[in-house]
Amino acid sequence: MSHIYQPVMLKVLLENYGEASVDQIASALLTYDQSQVEYYGTRTKQMVGKVLTKNGVVEPIKSGRATKGYRLNSEALTEAQRASLIVKCDNSISDYLDKRGDRIWQHRASESGYVSGSTRYNVLKRAKYRCELCGAHESQIALHVDHIVPRSKGGPDDLSNFQALCQTCNTNKRAEDDTNFRGVLNSYRHREVGCIFCELEAERIISENELCVAIKDAFPVTDHHTLIIPKRHVSDYFELYQPERNAIDQMLHEQRQSILGQDDKVTGFNVGINAGASAGQTVFHVHVHLIPRRKDDVEDPRGGVRGVIPTKQDYLRENRPPSPLDY
Ligand code: 5GP
Ligand code: ZN
Repeated sequence: MSHIYQPVMLKVLLENYGEASVDQIASALLTYDQSQVEYYGTRTKQMVGKVLTKNGVVEPIKSGRATKGYRLNSEALTEAQRASLIVKCDNSISDYLDKRGDRIWQHRASESGYVSGSTRYNVLKRAKYRCELCGAHESQIALHVDHIVPRSKGGPDDLSNFQALCQTCNTNKRAEDDTNFRGVLNSYRHREVGCIFCELEAERIISENELCVAIKDAFPVTDHHTLIIPKRHVSDYFELYQPERNAIDQMLHEQRQSILGQDDKVTGFNVGINAGASAGQTVFHVHVHLIPRRKDDVEDPRGGVRGVIPTKQDYLRENRPPSPLDY
């Protein structure tokens, strides 16, 4: 068993004497999805719990300053009173649903913490269902999908502004958020005076997402040679944060599509990073080269990036076992 799915589904079937609707099974799975439970926990405390408390219908159950639950402010109810009030609640829920349908959930789309199902799916798929900080797999621990720069601080709903974190890393991040949240966000904003890639003029930027930009190389190796550059000033590729790698990867795919759409002679690409002066880096702000290649643009392209050491580019020529034709 690699997940809780099977026992949850079997439990629902057993509890319902062998048969259950897809909605029943999905609802049961949902109750184990900690990120959803947390989401509605926040809704409860910030919205409905507040209103019902203010109106004197319930009172919060506190543990220190934290609200752990709610208690009805009523005399002891008889079983009949309880049953009749439950029916009243049910009626009022179905009246509201009849009147407003799915529109009642629309407000979530504009809320700061809300992450749609399809975004969750895409972010988790991109992260290969692993925490993007510690690498834990979804089968080991619940994964949360969160905005990197929160909506409330101007972060967009673009895929490049999301990350998948396990419960532990997310909790640590939040603990840090309270004390040092600005520090975390500010590190993404770090720019260095005098760095050509930190001070790019807006018109040079052909595309951008939350964490990186794309520009045309000023001295292109081939037509449409493009550079993908993280916004944060960081010199070494290996110092990038995982969300920046994701953003760069997303931009590489986008730019590849764009180049293919503009030039039907392009049949391949070299994707390369020079990390360190000895590896050829000349601008010390990370950038990924996306170099379009066309058939016959050089006499013998074999080996591609191996050409960083020109005499070693074609290993086939050097290492091919001897054949009778060689003699
Ligand atoms: P590196 O040698 O660090 O891997 O790559 C630096 C790249 O930046 C080179 O391909 C070079 O052509 C490009 N480059 C250098 N100066 C500028 C500039 O001012 N604007 C742009 N767009 N590219 C530059
Ligand atoms: Zn820079």
